[in-house]
Amino acid sequence: MYAIIVCYKCGRLLLTKAIQRTKACPYCKSRLEVERAKKVATARTAREASALIRSLKSQPS
Ligand SMILES: [Zn+2]
Repeated sequence: MYAIIVCYKCGRLLLTKAIQRTKACPYCKSRLEVERAKKVATARTAREASALIRSLKSQPS
């Protein structure tokens, strides 16, 4: 299971494994607690997750 979360430091979308407790943001290098971050979507496979990220990013915010 994968989750798409929002970095609470820089606001960007990133992909993490749902079982992971912490994740380093590739953009601002913050160490995020996955539970604290806002989850915008979940996906079963990495491929599905990256497709989701792409469609989320293309939406106007
Ligand atoms: Zn960040």
